[in-house]
Amino acid sequence: MNAAAFRRRSLIAFCILLAALPQLPVPEFWITQLNYIGLYTLVVLGLVLLTGIAGLTSFGQAAFVGIGAYTAAYLTLTYGVSPWLTVFAGLAITTVVALQLGWVTLRMSGHYLPLATIAWGLSLYYLLGNMEALGKYDGLLGVPAMSFFGIDLNTGRHFFYLLWLIVVLASIGITRLLDSRSGRAMRALKGGVTMAEAMGIDTFRSKVNVFLIAALLASVSGWLFAYFQRSVNPSPFGLKMGIEYLFMAVIGGVGHVWGALAGAVVVKVLEDQLQAWLPRLMGASGNYEVIVFGILLVLVLKYARDGVWAFIEQRLPRVQRAEDWRGAAALPERAKPAAGEVVLDVQAVHKEFGGLVAVRDVSFQVRAGEIMGLIGPNGAGKSTTFNLVTGVLPATRGEVRLLGERIEALPSREIARRGVARTFQHVKMIPAMTVLENVALGAHLRGHAGVARAMLRLERDEERRLLREAERQLARVGMQAHLHELAGNLALGPQRLMEIARALCADPTLLLLDEPAAGLRLKEKEGLAQVLRQLRGEGMSILLVEHDMDLVMGLVDRIVVMEFGTKLIEGTPDEVQANPAVRAAYLGTEH
Ligand code: ADP
Ligand code: MG
Repeated sequence: MNAAAFRRRSLIAFCILLAALPQLPVPEFWITQLNYIGLYTLVVLGLVLLTGIAGLTSFGQAAFVGIGAYTAAYLTLTYGVSPWLTVFAGLAITTVVALQLGWVTLRMSGHYLPLATIAWGLSLYYLLGNMEALGKYDGLLGVPAMSFFGIDLNTGRHFFYLLWLIVVLASIGITRLLDSRSGRAMRALKGGVTMAEAMGIDTFRSKVNVFLIAALLASVSGWLFAYFQRSVNPSPFGLKMGIEYLFMAVIGGVGHVWGALAGAVVVKVLEDQLQAWLPRLMGASGNYEVIVFGILLVLVLKYARDGVWAFIEQRLPRVQRAEDWRGAAALPERAKPAAGEVVLDVQAVHKEFGGLVAVRDVSFQVRAGEIMGLIGPNGAGKSTTFNLVTGVLPATRGEVRLLGERIEALPSREIARRGVARTFQHVKMIPAMTVLENVALGAHLRGHAGVARAMLRLERDEERRLLREAERQLARVGMQAHLHELAGNLALGPQRLMEIARALCADPTLLLLDEPAAGLRLKEKEGLAQVLRQLRGEGMSILLVEHDMDLVMGLVDRIVVMEFGTKLIEGTPDEVQANPAVRAAYLGTEH
């Protein structure tokens, strides 16, 4: 049995077990505990996305649970609204609140975001506790049970089915999302915004998407909570619970969808046991479990950062993505400029960092179908020039034109959209994604499917086309044997080739390569030169920063030499090699 079949059967077995549980003579206590676990799992699932996938930390998820719960309880008690409608009201209010909070806080960096989540977690708690209409700290009591086609979900056993159906569906939806174009964009957030934006990903929008999905999952959990508990009050939605959700995510393993379930199980069971045993041990009652949790969290962070599920995952056979993209239609390609047309026109660009002039009024042009070399000693300003052309850095002054259009003021992803693709001097990738997935990031702008279509698997046609393109570009650089390897496991040489394949996936008009041969073996270098020649033959324009002089001299059509941020000369390889100033300034120091 292959790994995928094993996982599918495990999931089916798990669902059958869930369906059978309430029919078995399981004590009511355990059914109740399982219901709590399901409610927690929904919230923690959102945290897996936020923290594990996108690298954003939130202590404030309990607040969104509160919004879902209070909306449901209030509407049902005050206006007699059916639970099947209050869920949508809760989702709508959560969406408005999450978008507003996200709009403000997701632009914050570093520790400001977690701090902001603490702030709103606290505010909502006190807001709920002080509102007359919501019963202040006593909350709202006597919420009626839900009913489903005449069946009252008034016992834990009945409620269990609805809850776990939603948990399983949500888990499957998130799993599918992560294995899609939008999901890859979310996973790319962890690699820093520079790389993702260079692939054309709107990172802010991706963050907002993740944030909103996490908030909506929490809100659904709150909606269910209101009809399960049959009452709501502020305490389960305060900061303490917000921290506990994050704790579950970390213990379970933020890197995996099923880590949410694992974390909810471990924490809930442990909490019950500790609450039963610790007061007996200590000889007095109190919330001692909080102390144990604190110690546990430190231990987990120190010794098992990836949580319980990572431990299980390592022992499961790894699923290799089915290669179902063979025979998918090719993606459309953009019209390319005619050979000799000026593709890139850099006019007197200038960049200063504080007092340091990194690039001083540099001008040059790259024409369609030529490879332009950019050489110079370390610190000459080559990478900075790349960053000015690709919009990673704003120029202090000067103009950059792509096919005649000004681009120097555009954001990096807008420049990517216009056909500029690049690699990085220091490889930027997502180590936990496969080579194929990393390369497919490059084709982001050639797909359109969003979150909802991914969850419903309505985008498989497009997805196959994107993956087919990724495989094609990998084959082009000689990497077809590594499709399913984790990118983080590759040696430096293949990582660089992977970056080139990723850039090619964008179907660029202009390709910028920053030291692509660094770390490559001789054979790989020859292969690279071959690929670049072939690309030039197809009309691609390439700007190449490279230190390997043999490679540069034998490959490029023209060279710009830079030193201390200034353009020294421009010419053919022969002219440059013959120039005494260049020999003194650059070649002399190298040889
Ligand atoms: P090269 O790629 O040719 O080796 P760089 O473009 O990386 O050179 O760097 C040119 C100069 O600009 C160096 O002196 C470098 O220290 C400086 N520099 C590059 N990036 C920054 C930055 N973000 N902030 C400050 N100084 C920088
Ligand atoms: Mg550099």
